[in-house]
Amino acid sequence: MTAKGRIVPATEEYLMEASLIIRRGGLVAFPTETVYGLGANALDSGAVKGIFAAKGRPQDNPLIVHVSGARQAAEYAEVGECALKLMDSFWPGPLSIVLYSTGGVPDVTRAGLDTVALRVPRHPVALSLIEKSGVPIAAPSANRSGRPSPTSAGAVADDLGSAVDLIIDGGPTFVGLESTVVDATRGSAAILRPGCVTREMLARVVGLSGGGCGEIAHRSPGTRHRHYAPDIPLFLWDGTDRAPFREASGLKWCYMGTRTPPRDIGTPHREIIFSSLGEYARGLFARLREFEASGAEMIIAQIPEEGGIGSAIRNRLGRAAE
Ligand code: AMP
Ligand code: MG
Repeated sequence: MTAKGRIVPATEEYLMEASLIIRRGGLVAFPTETVYGLGANALDSGAVKGIFAAKGRPQDNPLIVHVSGARQAAEYAEVGECALKLMDSFWPGPLSIVLYSTGGVPDVTRAGLDTVALRVPRHPVALSLIEKSGVPIAAPSANRSGRPSPTSAGAVADDLGSAVDLIIDGGPTFVGLESTVVDATRGSAAILRPGCVTREMLARVVGLSGGGCGEIAHRSPGTRHRHYAPDIPLFLWDGTDRAPFREASGLKWCYMGTRTPPRDIGTPHREIIFSSLGEYARGLFARLREFEASGAEMIIAQIPEEGGIGSAIRNRLGRAAE
């Protein structure tokens, strides 16, 4: 086989090659509508261990398993009424559903939990790869653990390079933030990670249950780990407090948000004003990476109000700034 870490276009030929790599226990990075995933055969413990090794991911953080549809999901999990409604309304799409595992998906993939997170991505390249491979594909975001998630093939190569057998380039991802994760094991949906399928959208379809932060950390191990962080300090701006800008005084700093920063605090090295929260979500991770690479010493990001996709942006920014 040829060199590792190659970036190739999403042609039929390369998708066939990628599916062979998956079937042989290798690693393929591929686009989904949310972010790029680092995929392996979810049923092959050895291959899945390769994902953890390549990312430097803590072993206690389970992987989302990507399937071709509700029927394949039912082969690996107990699908109740609540889950069926969610699948019907949001699949294919950026919603991962945590359900009781019925076996089949091995322990490593689930990080030893009795549940498994399943999702059908809304992306032709991802769907084609799952179908051609003939197996469910475990795929966390294709970044080094703790880094901002990759929204382009180049970002995957920057982080993982030769640790991955093949990188399929499908252009920039449309959503930009990882999927919403809900636990549907109790007959209602508990949001474990906010995303672009919002609380409001879920509430129209199923009952929602709360769960304090502590409980969510217990049920979703990923929320316990540091994540999404650039290598330079990130400060959050609530739209009024001037403290972050005082911190930036004398430094080379970058700004992003939907609002213009105060104009009497000096000039940012780079400034991005997003035209909507959707644009913010799409651009967030790519800008964090770009700002970091620009030689800036600090980043200031505006935190949007709670609600809708704003909640997901707040969640990622909050974790990145920890
Ligand atoms: P990533 O794929 O890196 O974006 O992270 C996947 C997220 O889904 C993490 O926050 C995991 O903790 C969460 N997750 C995956 N499987 C499960 C599960 N069985 N139960 C609860 N959370 C899960
Ligand atoms: Mg991730």
